[in-house]
Amino acid sequence: MTTTYPNIIDGARDDAGAGFDVINASTGEVAGRAISADAETLDRAVAAARRAFPGWAATPWADRQAACNKIAGLIGAHAEDLARLLSTEQGKPLNGVGARFEIGGCQAWTSYTASLTLEPEILQDTPEGRVELHRVPIGVVGAITPWNWPVLIGIWHIIPTILAGNCVIIKPSENTPLSTLRLVELMQEALPPGVVQALASDGGLGPDMTTHPGIDKISFTGSIPTGSKVMASAAKDIKRVTLELGGNDPGIVLPDVDPKAIAEGLFWGAFINNGQTCAALKRLYVHEDVHDAVAEALVGVASAMPMGDGLDEASIVGPIQNRNQYNIVRDAVQDALDKGAVLLCGGIPEGNDLFFPTTILSGVEPGMKLHDLEQFGPALGITKWRDEDAVVALANDDKCGLGASVWSSDPARARRLADRISAGTVWINKHGMIQPNAPFGGVRQSGIGVQFGVDGLRECTNVKTIIS
Ligand code: NDP
Repeated sequence: MTTTYPNIIDGARDDAGAGFDVINASTGEVAGRAISADAETLDRAVAAARRAFPGWAATPWADRQAACNKIAGLIGAHAEDLARLLSTEQGKPLNGVGARFEIGGCQAWTSYTASLTLEPEILQDTPEGRVELHRVPIGVVGAITPWNWPVLIGIWHIIPTILAGNCVIIKPSENTPLSTLRLVELMQEALPPGVVQALASDGGLGPDMTTHPGIDKISFTGSIPTGSKVMASAAKDIKRVTLELGGNDPGIVLPDVDPKAIAEGLFWGAFINNGQTCAALKRLYVHEDVHDAVAEALVGVASAMPMGDGLDEASIVGPIQNRNQYNIVRDAVQDALDKGAVLLCGGIPEGNDLFFPTTILSGVEPGMKLHDLEQFGPALGITKWRDEDAVVALANDDKCGLGASVWSSDPARARRLADRISAGTVWINKHGMIQPNAPFGGVRQSGIGVQFGVDGLRECTNVKTIIS
C-alpha cells in the first residue's frame, strides 16, 4: 500500500490538497505520495508561523538549544527509518556515502549547530558613549531545498534558523519531499506549533513563497537561473536571501603527487552522491607528468564501485535522481565525445532506467559542456596541463566559484597555489569535505551568504545596534 506523507502545518498533519506520486529513482516505482500545497495552504502556514514567531523569538537561547538537541535525538532514534525513506525516494544507496551517511550527518550537524551562541558585542564603552551590537531574529523564513541531499540540506536550512529565533516554512523538491515531511513531523515533538512547517508542491509554490508578504527571508539551494529568479522576486519587498547555487569546482593535480594515494580521494571528491553535489569536483586538471597514472588509478577506483538499487545493501553507487538531470549528464558526455574527448570508463548507457555508469573522459577542454557547465552527475572530464599560471587562470575563469582543490605532496606549494584560487572554499588533498564549523558559500554566481558555523548563524539574524 502506498503511504501518503501529509504537509505539516501549525504542529499538525494537514492533507488539504491534491496528492502526487513521488517516484523511486532506483526502480521507477511509486515511493509514496505527497500533497501539493497551494497559495491558500501557504497563507495558513504563514499565519501559523507569524503567530508562533513572537513567543519563539522570546524563548531563551538555552531553551532553543535544548529543542535543537532534542531534534538531534529524534533523528538518531528514527535514523534507520529516515534513511530507508530517503533511499526509496532519492535512489541513493543505504551504504557508502549514502542515505545512512546523510541521516548521520543530519544528527551531527544538528548537535554541533545547537552548541553555538551569538553573544552581544560591545563595540564601544567609553565616557563618550556605549555601543552594543545584538543579533536578533529576522522573522519567518521560507526555505526552498533540492533533491540531491534533501534531508541534510533541510537541516542546514532549518536548524540555525530556528536556533536564532526564527520560524521556518520549508518546501522540499517535488522529486524528494517525503523524507523532509517526515523529518519535520518528528520535529513537532521538540517544538511549539508553527515554528517549523513543511509544504510539498508538485510545482509552482516556490514563486508564491518568494513573493509572500508574510515571509521575511528566503533561503534557497538550487540552480543559478532559479536562484536569480528567487533574488529578483525577493527584491520586491527587500526580503533577505541566502543563496547556495551551483558549482563547477576545479581540482588541480600537481606533478609531485602519488597517483595511487590520491585516487580514492579524487573519486569521492567527484562522485560523492553520484556527482549530484554542488561542491563536487567537476573539472579535473592533471599535470602532464602524472596525467596517465592519475587517470589509470582513478578509473581503477571508479570501476570497482558496485552500482545498484539503493535498498540493496551491496550498492555503493545509485542512479541519477531524475530524468531531467540524466539528460543533462548524457548531453554533456555526448558533446565531449563529439568534440574529441577520450572515453576512459563508463559511457552513455542503452537502458531506459536512471542508472548511468561512472564515466571518466580525458582530453576534455574549454568549449565542451562537460568542462564549461555544471554536469551535476556521474561524469568527470580530465584536462591535461603544463603551465601553472595557465591552469590557475583556467580554474578561475568560470561564473561559478563555490569550491576548488589542490593536490600535492608538498604542503607549502599546495598552500601557495590555494591562495591563487578564487572560490568560497579551497581544499588541499581532498574535495567537497564540508564540515559544520567551517563557513561554506560561493563567490561570483555560486551564491550569496554562507552556511555553517557562527558565520552561517549570523545569516539568520538582523543586526540591532543600541547606542547610549
Ligand atoms: P532548480 O534550481 O530549478 O530549483 C527547483 C526548485 O525551485 C523547486 O523547489 C521550485 O519549486 C523552486 N522554484 C522554481 N522557480 C522558482 C521561483 N521563481 N521562485 C522560487 N522558487 C522557485 O532545480 P532543478 O531540480 O531543476 O535542478 C536544476 C539544476 O540545479 C541541476 O542541474 C543542478 O545543476 C542544480 N542543482 C544544484 C543544487 C545545489 O546543491 N546547489 C541542488 C540541486 C540542483 P516550485 O516548483 O514549487 O516552484
